[in-house]
Amino acid sequence: MAQLPFMLDPRTGLILPLDDEHFMRHALREAEQAFKADEVPVGAVVVCNGQIIGRAHNLTERLNDVTAHAEMQSITSAAGHLGGKYLKDCTLYVTLEPCVMCAGALHWAQMGRIVFGAFDEKAGYRRLGARSLHPRTQVVGGILEAECADLMKAFFRKKRSL
Ligand code: ZN
Repeated sequence: MAQLPFMLDPRTGLILPLDDEHFMRHALREAEQAFKADEVPVGAVVVCNGQIIGRAHNLTERLNDVTAHAEMQSITSAAGHLGGKYLKDCTLYVTLEPCVMCAGALHWAQMGRIVFGAFDEKAGYRRLGARSLHPRTQVVGGILEAECADLMKAFFRKKRSL
């Protein structure tokens, strides 16, 4: 059996699983909360040294604020947790490919790594601003893609049937 990917916690020296699907499930749980609150179901978590230090979901309806995307909320919460604004050693897990606004915010935060679930062919940063991310940010897309996309489809199906 292949060894699972892992990382060493720089503080404790312990071996931590580096499991993108595991953390994406936490982001999906956030997205499900958004769904229940009648928000476009996008969720995000920020992970540092194997620990979730920020979690959020889309709040644009509740806050009446078009900038309240899950990524923006989770950047703010992670920076608050760390007491520093740069997130170079962190990974953002988000259920949908970030938009250009969030890609810009992730640039300013110097996010080390971004893992997203579903691709957004219409409003995703790859189509509209592929160079908006920080040049050092690593990106992985398509983790639990089907589950992330299904939640979005279910949401818009529900909206259309109302
Ligand atoms: Zn966004």
